[in-house]
Amino acid sequence: MPTYRELLQQIKSEIEEIDASHARELIDEGSAVVDVRERDEWDEGHLPGAVHVPRGHLESRIERAEPDKERTVILYCSSGNRSAFAAKALEELGYERAVSLAGGFTDWKRNGFPVEIPEALDEPKRRRYSRHLLIPEVGEEGQLRLLQSRVLLIGAGGLGSPASLYLAAAGVGTLGIVDDDAVDETNLQRQIVHSTERLGDSKAESAKRTIEALNPDVTVKVFQERLTAENVDRILGERWDVIVDGADNFPTRYLLNDASVWHRIPVVHGSIFRFEGQTTVFKPFEGPCYRCLFPQPPPPELAPSCAEGGVLGVLPGVIGSLQANEALKIALGIGEPLIGRLLMFDALESTFTEIKLRRDPDCPVCGENPTITDYIDYVEFCQGGRTHVTP
Ligand SMILES: [Zn+2]
Repeated sequence: MPTYRELLQQIKSEIEEIDASHARELIDEGSAVVDVRERDEWDEGHLPGAVHVPRGHLESRIERAEPDKERTVILYCSSGNRSAFAAKALEELGYERAVSLAGGFTDWKRNGFPVEIPEALDEPKRRRYSRHLLIPEVGEEGQLRLLQSRVLLIGAGGLGSPASLYLAAAGVGTLGIVDDDAVDETNLQRQIVHSTERLGDSKAESAKRTIEALNPDVTVKVFQERLTAENVDRILGERWDVIVDGADNFPTRYLLNDASVWHRIPVVHGSIFRFEGQTTVFKPFEGPCYRCLFPQPPPPELAPSCAEGGVLGVLPGVIGSLQANEALKIALGIGEPLIGRLLMFDALESTFTEIKLRRDPDCPVCGENPTITDYIDYVEFCQGGRTHVTP
């Protein structure tokens, strides 16, 4: 049986080794770089653009990390020994050119070449978000991105309740909540972010308390006010990545639409009535806006609110959760958001229906020649009308 040293010598004679300068040239030419060290070594710094596949998981994970077997793969560890074995393993898996960085990361640093020091999740966060870290599309990078994300919720009611809870649990770092209402008994049938002991409390403050108890990683910014033409620029101006719309009236919906188009912030729209709910994403200038679809609000008699028409308690749970899903996808930059697609849910039939939505080139706000370029009197515009689908 050969000793470790003899085996290493033999492996090194069978693979291609390159020095740090050569590795740098290959990286510039588009080669893949794989770091096969352990997690704590990676966390202290690595080659820019490298992917982390620890040696122990190399064979099982490399094809997902680097599916192109014709591409040159540079493997490195701290000194060039583990990566030599790794290069041999990749050759056996059919990679055309797997090379090992002689001298490893130590030599790379000694040459003064650039090093990327990743921002890393600490141990408690690694545990809390472990089920996210296991998903390749999220992973540590995605979780760090979520923790830096900012989502604004319009309303802490039926839709805002599940949306805020799931966004908070997922680790969205900053949640803004705009609501000037107080918790009353008729809310508790569906607004699960509140509770009986909070009756009479501010909804925004009540939501903040529930969210902070759920996840202390989340900072909640409370706006205990109704969204108006006077405060909308101040509130939307706080660098939000996405807005979740759970508004319960038409003036707020139109105001939010115009402001979000001008601030270029995507809005995840949701609305509910009795057994029917719908959701879509209004991404300014990429898909339609609310006015593209509804240039005028319907007359109030055709648009009863939940207070007037009622709503099944679980329905906002379904639609608000779908809104949270869209907001998370947008924050992570993954999947296909519901841009230009209206998803409708019928709770009695348990069916989802999707319809295509198109931008209106004549839209007064996002069209080619906009006629509305500043805030209007939204209450007058809507004549006190309420959306037929309200939380
Ligand atoms: Zn439009």
